[in-house]
Amino acid sequence: MSYIQNKLDLKSMYLAEIEELLAKCNEPRFRAGQVFSWLQKGITSFDEMTNIPQNTRNYLQEIGYLTRTDIEKRLVSKIDGTVKYLYKLYDGEYIESVLMKYEHGYTVCVSTQVGCRMGCRFCASGINGLIRSLTASEILSQITTAEKDNNIRVSNVVLMGMGEPLDNFDNTERFLNLVSSKEGLNIGLRHISLSTCGVVSGIERLEKLNLPITLSVSLHAPFDDIRNSMMPINKKWNIKALMNACRKYQSVTTRRISFEYALISGVNDTPECAARLYEITKGIMCHINLIPVNPVKENTYQKPDKNKIFKFQKMLESKGLNATIRRTLGADINASCGQLRKTVKEGNDDKDIQ
Ligand code: SAH
Repeated sequence: MSYIQNKLDLKSMYLAEIEELLAKCNEPRFRAGQVFSWLQKGITSFDEMTNIPQNTRNYLQEIGYLTRTDIEKRLVSKIDGTVKYLYKLYDGEYIESVLMKYEHGYTVCVSTQVGCRMGCRFCASGINGLIRSLTASEILSQITTAEKDNNIRVSNVVLMGMGEPLDNFDNTERFLNLVSSKEGLNIGLRHISLSTCGVVSGIERLEKLNLPITLSVSLHAPFDDIRNSMMPINKKWNIKALMNACRKYQSVTTRRISFEYALISGVNDTPECAARLYEITKGIMCHINLIPVNPVKENTYQKPDKNKIFKFQKMLESKGLNATIRRTLGADINASCGQLRKTVKEGNDDKDIQ
């Protein structure tokens, strides 16, 4: 059980745990289901629990905490309506989330940590290291706050915001169970993608859970020397160890794996890289997501020009690999990579907010 400000973190609790809690107030069993539903749907006040007796509400208020993610900033893309949120947490920390609209519905990209300790060189989230991991309720609240703010229902979730979900395994597992529970938000696990930089021990734990989520692996380079220069995690688990873990993961879950590949000019965009990428993914049912790298002012990485990106894709496709270039949403609001939190923390906020 987790606590926030010395109170029970109610929105992180499973239905069975709420049942146990309410058994102490002599409440009928069905009450727990009602309370659980209210909590999971993101109430911000106990008064919203209109079908729950007042004395039970009072009890919950006394012992419990309602996690919230307050909207500190909200950037709306004029190009495609993508909304980027900067949320403030109870301890004054900030996290980012993005709401995207696709033909099949709304997707929210959630953060799992404040900062990150993985240290990928191209990424803005990890520049100042890890501050702390998020609770399951803080991950959930990013979804419910976006739903309420736009009066919509979210159908898909990607764990691709700030932080490394497999470095916050227990809370991420709890989040996945809660968000997919039918008395809660009821977002099917098949509609959820989890992205990792390659924490092999975490992939092995995830494999044991055998969930129908999509595993997305941030590969970014097919040679160890290049990957070492971009991602410190590769020194702990190299490409061979990572690909073996992916093969094993797939043999258990039978789910297609998605490989993220951020194209960086002069670093990982050569024909040799494309050929090697084909070799190392052989035998894995997968999809390659090519992402032109998003320049961050703290490093010198630049995206290749359009022709080079298309050429790289064509080389992969000619070998029978399934490779697409990721559509950029929210290009005008810097909708990725932890940059908004960083500017606000440093007091360099440019105020182009709606
Ligand atoms: N820690 C997880 C999830 C968060 S990052 C992971 O590493 O997968 C989500 C995705 O954005 C990852 O694929 C990450 O490598 C990528 N990313 C981070 N910074 C980027 C940048 N500047 N340009 C393009 N992609 C970036």
